[in-house]
Amino acid sequence: MRCAIVHYHELALKGRNRDYFEDRLVHNIQLALSDLGVRQVENLRSRIRVILPSEANYEIIRQRLSRVCGIANFSLADSVPLDLANPNFEALSAAIIEELRTKSYSTFRVTAKRADKRLPLTSTDAERIVGAAIHEQTGKAVRLKDPDITVYLEMLSRDVYFSVEKIPGPGGMPVGVSGKVACLISGGIDSPVASYRMIKRGCRALFVHFSGRPLVSRDSEDKVRDLVQTLTAYLHKSRLYVIPFGEIQREIVLNTPAPFRVVLYRRMMLRITEELARREQCWGLVTGDSLGQVASQTPENLSVVEEAAGLPILRPLIGMDKLEITDDAKRIGTYETSIEPDQDCCKLFTPPHPSTKTRLEELLHVERALDIPRLVKQGVEKAELSEFIFPA
Ligand code: ATP
Ligand code: MG
Repeated sequence: MRCAIVHYHELALKGRNRDYFEDRLVHNIQLALSDLGVRQVENLRSRIRVILPSEANYEIIRQRLSRVCGIANFSLADSVPLDLANPNFEALSAAIIEELRTKSYSTFRVTAKRADKRLPLTSTDAERIVGAAIHEQTGKAVRLKDPDITVYLEMLSRDVYFSVEKIPGPGGMPVGVSGKVACLISGGIDSPVASYRMIKRGCRALFVHFSGRPLVSRDSEDKVRDLVQTLTAYLHKSRLYVIPFGEIQREIVLNTPAPFRVVLYRRMMLRITEELARREQCWGLVTGDSLGQVASQTPENLSVVEEAAGLPILRPLIGMDKLEITDDAKRIGTYETSIEPDQDCCKLFTPPHPSTKTRLEELLHVERALDIPRLVKQGVEKAELSEFIFPA
C-alpha cells in the first residue's frame, strides 16, 4: 500500500487547540488532493496518513502536499505488514533493498520512528536490524552523519512504512485557523510574499488590487490575477477585488500638493480596502512594506499611512531585506510573474521629490481638500470581484 505520511510541528499545540489544528489540516489535505482520487486521510495522532490510489500521479501529489500550510514535511512511503507479537523485518528489508536498486549512493543510514509503544522492538533495534540487512545485501556503508541516502521507517500499529526521501512542506499553520485578512497586492515582488507569510500562519486571504485604470492599461491586473492564482495553491479558495483607481488619483492630484501624493494614495487604498475587509469579516490589512525601502516606507510615512485605518495593519516583511524577500518569492513561485514589466498605479503622477517625513497635522490639513467618504464609496462601488479556486 502506498501512502503519504505527513508530519507537522506540534510543540506549540496544546489541548483543544491541537484538535482544531489537526482537524483543519486533515480537511485541507483532503481539499488539496480532492481531484486525485484520494479518499482516505486519517489522523493517527502526531502524524497524518493519506492512502494513495494505485493510479495516483505521485509527482502531482508531491507538488500539492508541498503547498499545504501546516505540513512540516512528508514522505511518499510504501508499507509492509507488521506482526506486533513477532516483528520480523525480512520482508521489510527486502522491499527497501528493491526500492534502493534504482538509486545511486554509496553511504546510507536508517532512521526509525515507533508510533506504537507496544512493539517489543525499539526504533534503535529496527534501525540496526534493517541497516545490517541492507549493508549485507548491497555492500553499501552505513554513515550516520551526512549519508547519501536516509531510509525512513515509521512503525505504526499494523504496518511499517518506508521511504527514502523526506519532502519539506511550508510549515506554519493550516489555512483557516487564524481567521481572514485582506491583502493589498500590487504586481511587485513584496506584496505576494507578505500575503504568503500570513497565509502560512493560518490566515485565509482576500486580495485587493488598485489599478491605474482608466489612465493605464489592464497589464497590472493580469499580473495580479496570475499572482493570486499562484497563491491560491496554498489557500484552496480566494477572492480578488480590482479597483480602478485612476479617477481617484486624478482627484488627489488636482486638489493636493505633489509631495504628499504617495502618502495620500496609500491612505486612500487602506480606507477602501478596510471597507471591503469589514464586509468580508477580515480582521487585519496586510501590506508588503519593508522599512526604509522606498519613500512611502520611512518611519514617518508608515505612521501617517497607518493612521487612516481602523483595522490592524500587518506588515510581515517590515524587518526583511530585499534579498530575503526575493528568495521567498522564488521559493513560493511568484517571482517570475512579479518581475514582468507593468504600469503600476503608484507611479502615476509621482513627484520627483515625495515627502519622506510627512507630519500628520500637515497631512490632515492637506486632506481636507478631498471628499474622502465620496472617494471611498466610489472605490468600493467600482470594485470588480473575481473568485479563484485550486485545484480548479
Ligand atoms: P511591492 O513589491 O509589493 O509592490 P513596493 O516595494 O513596490 O511593494 P510600495 O509600492 O511602497 O512598495 O507598496 C507598499 C505596499 O503597498 C505594497 O507591498 C502593497 O501591499 C501596497 N500596494 C502598493 N501598490 C498597490 C496596488 N496598486 N494595489 C494594492 N496594493 C498596493
Ligand atoms: Mg510596488
